[in-house]
Amino acid sequence: MRFDVVTLFPELFAPFLTTGITRRAYSSGAVDVHLFNPRDVASGNYRRVDDRPFGGGPGMVMMAEPLDKTLDVIAAERGHRAKVVLFSPIGQPLNHTVVQEWANSDGAILICGRYEGVDQRFIDAHVDAQISIGDFVLSGGELPAMVLLDAVARLQPDVLSDADSHHFDSFNPALDGLLDCPHYTRPEEWAGQGVPEVLLSGHHINISRWRRDEQLRLTVRYRPDLIAAARAAGLLTVKDEALLASIAIMTG
Ligand code: SAH
Repeated sequence: MRFDVVTLFPELFAPFLTTGITRRAYSSGAVDVHLFNPRDVASGNYRRVDDRPFGGGPGMVMMAEPLDKTLDVIAAERGHRAKVVLFSPIGQPLNHTVVQEWANSDGAILICGRYEGVDQRFIDAHVDAQISIGDFVLSGGELPAMVLLDAVARLQPDVLSDADSHHFDSFNPALDGLLDCPHYTRPEEWAGQGVPEVLLSGHHINISRWRRDEQLRLTVRYRPDLIAAARAAGLLTVKDEALLASIAIMTG
């Protein structure tokens, strides 16, 4: 899988690509990330990549031409056309389903906007999909690109060890799309607080049941929509429903 990232600030990616558990995915090439700076192909002495908006108003707009030339450079390297994704507040909200789709893909070209955004003519000519990471505005598409790359890398086989398998993560189909349960580690007592007894029992069946119950408890409290979705998909067992019914009685 290959991701080509188009950014005016490629230096932002170096620590991200070389740190932490996902580093393996990037260094092994399982998620092969290439960085391209439109400034490198911009023309003129000043290698301009942005200009003032037609119609006036504040800020600058990324020019179409340097981005277009960058796509040519990438196409020459790849030897074939790839999907072009632009990060933008108007895009499709990023969630587990969208991440999973990209994790199963053979990659894409990721365009990081800056300033007020990108000349619309470039978007109309080249962009296949727009992705938003939430209803707020960042200064650039670099963090959204890292968000997508990180989430995609986590889902690659052999990136996480069994112990921290993404199958135990929130939203994962392996957890029926529920939220993850709480976690505890040593010491057994901290600041006057113990650890749920069952976790120290070594009784695996009881531990699994406790974890499932906690997932249900957290999900019904914080994300009842995910409970509804799991129920609609027929993923909740009789025991699950019994627990949810008892929570409903207790919380009125
Ligand atoms: N004027 C634009 C915001 C530009 S912010 C507007 O109001 O919609 C500059 C760049 O940051 C954008 O081009 C985009 O690439 C990125 N960006 C900002 N917020 C984002 C978000 N929530 N999701 C994805 N990308 C975002």
